Amino acid sequence: MLIATGLAVAALLSAPALSASPFPLTPPTMIVTVAVAPAISPSLVARAMEEAGDIWRAAGFMLMWDRQPVATNVNAAPGLITRPSALHVTIGDERGTPGKDPHVMPLGWIIFEAESPQQEVYLSHANAMMLLQASEGVVGRVSTLTITERETLLGRAMGRALAHEIGHYLLASKTHTATGVMQAKRGAAELFSRSRQGFQLQADQRRLIAARMNPTSPVARAGRVRLDDASLERKGREGR
Ligand SMILES: [Zn+2]
Repeated sequence: MLIATGLAVAALLSAPALSASPFPLTPPTMIVTVAVAPAISPSLVARAMEEAGDIWRAAGFMLMWDRQPVATNVNAAPGLITRPSALHVTIGDERGTPGKDPHVMPLGWIIFEAESPQQEVYLSHANAMMLLQASEGVVGRVSTLTITERETLLGRAMGRALAHEIGHYLLASKTHTATGVMQAKRGAAELFSRSRQGFQLQADQRRLIAARMNPTSPVARAGRVRLDDASLERKGREGR
C-alpha cells in the first residue's frame, strides 16, 4: 500500500457498478469473525465490511460477518474460530511493519506460517488515517471533512485492503498480480475513489477459490490440511 501525496488523480467518478453474481444459487460463503478496538467507530467498521463484502460478492462469494465483542487480542478467545472456513479479522491501531520503503505502511496484513496463510487478518485503522491525512491532494482538506465523509473515505480504503487480505487467505498465496484486487501497491486515488475499478478478481482466481471453498474438491481438502497444520513455525507476515 503506497502512501504518497501528489499521485495522479485517476478519480473514477462513476457509481460503483456491481455486476450480478455469476453464481445464481447460494454463492460459496465464508464466515469472517471481526473484533474491533474500542476506540474505532462502529459505523466506520460497518462501511469497511460493506466495501469488502461488495468486492467479494461481485466476484461470486459471500462473506458472512460475525461481530465479536470488543477484543483486541485474538488469542484471548481461541474458541471463536470453530470452523475451518472461518477467518478472524482484528481492526485496531497497530502500525505493522513497513516494507522496503519506510514510507509504505501496510493498511492490512495476514500472517503466513511457512507458505500457508493463517486465519488472522489485521486491518490498521491508524495507517488508514495516516494515509488519509497524507492524501489531501486527492481527497481535499481533511480537517473540513464531515464525519460521514471521512468515514466514507476510510471505509473504502480499509474495505479494499481487507478484500485484498481475504484474497491472500482464500487463494492461500502471497502472490500479487499486476492488476485487480491482488495488486500490492495502491495509490490514494484508487483507495479512496468512489469507483471500485481495479479491485476485481480475475477469472482464474475465482475458479481456484470456488474449488477451494467446495468441501468435496481435492483442492479444498489439501488446503484444509495446510491451514490446520499448527506445527509449522510462524515465519513473517504478508502486508500490502
Ligand atoms: Zn498482499
